[in-house]
Amino acid sequence: MALTVLWVAAAMYVERKTVSTNVSITGIGLHSGIYTKVELHPVPAGNGITFVRADLDGLRIPALQASTTSLDYATTLGKDDVAVGTVEHLLAAVMAFGITDLDVHIDGPEVPIVDGSALPFMHLIDAAGVRALGVDVPVLRVSEPIEIVDGEKSIRITPSNRLVLNHKIDFSHPAIGRQSYRFDYHRDNFLRKIAPARTYGFLRDVERMRAAGLARGGSVENALVLDDRGVMNGPLRFRDEFVRHKILDLLGDLALLGRPIVGEITANRAGHAMHSRFVGEILRKTVGTIDESEGTQPAAAIESFA
Ligand SMILES: [Zn+2]
Repeated sequence: MALTVLWVAAAMYVERKTVSTNVSITGIGLHSGIYTKVELHPVPAGNGITFVRADLDGLRIPALQASTTSLDYATTLGKDDVAVGTVEHLLAAVMAFGITDLDVHIDGPEVPIVDGSALPFMHLIDAAGVRALGVDVPVLRVSEPIEIVDGEKSIRITPSNRLVLNHKIDFSHPAIGRQSYRFDYHRDNFLRKIAPARTYGFLRDVERMRAAGLARGGSVENALVLDDRGVMNGPLRFRDEFVRHKILDLLGDLALLGRPIVGEITANRAGHAMHSRFVGEILRKTVGTIDESEGTQPAAAIESFA
């Protein structure tokens, strides 16, 4: 029997938003070890989220799946051999505020890691303020599940009118083990329960990563470091800080859809590479089903979009 699946987006809209004023933050890049300044600039509706290399004649790199160049330990965007790395924690904060339009000026190749979490970016956007742009954007909503499986790793989305992220990890490490977390998307939930969760790395990987040009800015100040027995630079902010950080990363990677999304997303042992394939799969399967015209009706009551 032939099965016809229609990927139909319901007419669901939220209002486009940008920041109210310019704000900036500086710091070292986790992988490059290079200090950069990031400055958020308000932009008109329809701009989307774009990284702007302020040191390279303002070269613009849209924060979209199509710009992804590398997914080793962090999400890197690029264009014409120019990159902006470790975008995911900043983008998670941008997503948490429901910001759809923003220029992120940066004078180097990597977003500062700051304390390894999204909290500094939450405070930065909060300091700038958020301005509604008076124009609606259609929300992506799948009508059928989409799933990617790769050995023990998997990620799927099922239809829902809210955005809910579930993540599960299983590391045979005394400080981690099995952890799972369910996050109901809302700015305040994100601020309290997810944003403070820091990135983490294993001491045994550091030499190999540095030889590969990674983790050069990493330190006990900006990442949880694990040796074979436990966390070297505790205390943890949450007992399950590791899986909460995976949720943070996933939300940041979903920004590369280029539009808001609703659905129940469940990830198992997935990392940036799988998140990215998933975003690509959602875009492929929903292309053409979204009404791209700017909505004029009032934003649908999606409370989870803070
Ligand atoms: Zn991360």
